[in-house]
Amino acid sequence: MNMYTAILVAGLVASASAFSADATSQPASPASASAPATMPRILVLATGGTISGTADPRSAIGYNSGNVKGQELVRGVPGIEKLASIDAEQISNVGSQDMNDKIWFQLARRIQEAFDKNEADGIVITHGTDTIEETAFFLQNVLRSNKPVVLVGSMRPGGTTSADGPNNLYEAVEVAASAQSRGRGVMVVMNDQIHAPRWITKTNTTAVQAFASPNAGVVGYVDPASVRFVAPVPQAPREVLNLPADGPLPRVDIVYAHANMDGRQIDHAIADGAKGIVIAGEGDGDASKDALAALDRAVKKGIVVVRSTRVVSGFVNRNVEVDDDKRGFVVSLDLNPQKARLLTQLLVANGVTDAAKVQQAFSGTW
Ligand code: ASP
Repeated sequence: MNMYTAILVAGLVASASAFSADATSQPASPASASAPATMPRILVLATGGTISGTADPRSAIGYNSGNVKGQELVRGVPGIEKLASIDAEQISNVGSQDMNDKIWFQLARRIQEAFDKNEADGIVITHGTDTIEETAFFLQNVLRSNKPVVLVGSMRPGGTTSADGPNNLYEAVEVAASAQSRGRGVMVVMNDQIHAPRWITKTNTTAVQAFASPNAGVVGYVDPASVRFVAPVPQAPREVLNLPADGPLPRVDIVYAHANMDGRQIDHAIADGAKGIVIAGEGDGDASKDALAALDRAVKKGIVVVRSTRVVSGFVNRNVEVDDDKRGFVVSLDLNPQKARLLTQLLVANGVTDAAKVQQAFSGTW
């Protein structure tokens, strides 16, 4: 049994302590009472974002996020009560640029509790789109269940002529309630597409078609009448990492590479006590000689160094232009910098800091 498998097994047996009764959200109250008892039970957990926003008349594209609470959101979607028996709870009410460890842990614990106590067949999380990919990836790495957990957002707030929230929420509930979603775990539904957490990324700042999964494509499609998966249900065992028992995830910094780069930002991260550094490298995770020398200094101090890329698609491979074996670096493969950061945080929190073991974990999370 290698170290990473040991974490998986330990994680499975320690599930009760990692997700103990710390859920502080309000008790569920029905958003719709009209669904027959035989319908799938879907729990909507609202966190904020544009999907809960309303247009601001003072500016053409301005809006105030977080105006509409989870239960109201559900009630505002015509026909949604025919898909499932739906309860809604408010976990937070933030723009997802303010998503943080505290809300993540609360969300993870509430989902685990709902599944462990058989309160729901599937979960829908309403979320801002800026960091929806990070929350999806975080949850996929810590949840001990493969029941469907569907994150959904919108690019336009309620009250605008092209508001996309109601249809996205309808389709998210449709996917979470579908028998075809069993065993698929965490997914993201946006604009008629179903994405997997490892691959989804935001590729447009404002367009309704904002998301893509560049290295793999979508896992399915949804419209108000049908759910169609084009990828099989994942069969490989999924590694599960524990949340830290006390306090937030360890600090891991992302440093963005560019032409004419020196090592100062990396040296600052070292001096500030980062436990890991992810370089959003150029091309295949490259960086200037000065930046690489600073990363060598980080490795010497026991800091985990991961080479990711600022390029939107492709893999960062080991030992191409940079001698990772010699320097003690890890490559992120297809994980973008923000997801590489999260995985490094979770690994460090679980005591995995050896470069070879971190590399093994990066290679084995899909
Ligand atoms: N800033 C918003 C958020 O991420 C944008 C959105 O939801 O589309 O919460």
